[in-house]
Amino acid sequence: MPEGDTIFRTARNIGRALIGKVLTGFYSTYPRLTRFNDDTPLTGQTVDQVEARGKWMLMHFSGGGILASHLLMNGRWHIYRHGERWQLPRFQMRIVIENAQYQAVGFRVPVAEMHTTRTLERDLRIPRPENDLLSADFDAAAALERLVSRGGDTIADALLDQSVLAGVGNVFKSEICFVNGLNPFRSVGTLTCDEAAQTVRSAQRLLRANVLEDSGDLIVTYRGQQRRTTHNSDPTASLWVYGRHGEPCRRCGEAIRRRIQGDDARVTFWCPRCQPMPDGCDVDG
Ligand SMILES: [Zn+2]
Repeated sequence: MPEGDTIFRTARNIGRALIGKVLTGFYSTYPRLTRFNDDTPLTGQTVDQVEARGKWMLMHFSGGGILASHLLMNGRWHIYRHGERWQLPRFQMRIVIENAQYQAVGFRVPVAEMHTTRTLERDLRIPRPENDLLSADFDAAAALERLVSRGGDTIADALLDQSVLAGVGNVFKSEICFVNGLNPFRSVGTLTCDEAAQTVRSAQRLLRANVLEDSGDLIVTYRGQQRRTTHNSDPTASLWVYGRHGEPCRRCGEAIRRRIQGDDARVTFWCPRCQPMPDGCDVDG
């Protein structure tokens, strides 16, 4: 599933292609979006802003409509110049938004809804900017309070909860636990104040490091970007533990372990030596 950093980069890229330019076309396979467009044509409007909110992307149109989309597991947004060959088959297209130069194409986007400022405000699934690790308005103190309030949850599950910290997905979950030396199966209630605060800080730092400006003002059509949490420039050494089951820990050499965790059965990776379960914690980690 795309995590907050991926959505952030996608929104930035789409913004570069669409913001401030008059829209020349809008197409969708979703009847509700088509109906909205029939009633309030998007053609002729401009895109004022494209923003990421956790794993949601919001596209603000000059007529007041806000398109909120969520990619879940398989959705993708691509940008193409007119005439450029699409990288995914046409039948997977759900939404096309175009101006004279570019097309933003949503493939297999499973959730796409038109909002107004008011309905957006009321929609509790879409994170507020102050909860979003990548937002300039992120409020770390409030996030720490929310994290600490999840005392009975495991650290890994609390990190995935988008109402605690918006933007962390399964890869960052394991990486954040590793860089803090925290066993992912500990309950949040066993964290010291320092450990909890450090967890929030490192979550913000790791996500931000993955959205650093790398392409200037150029508009790039979509290409996968290597996510990195280590300081190693070798692309095969970009993550500490995620996806490395059985491989040696980059710090201590111990074999990385892997286990299915939580109600959603998400996979967790950790180093048993660098991330020990503290004395008194009776969970088998
Ligand atoms: Zn280790």
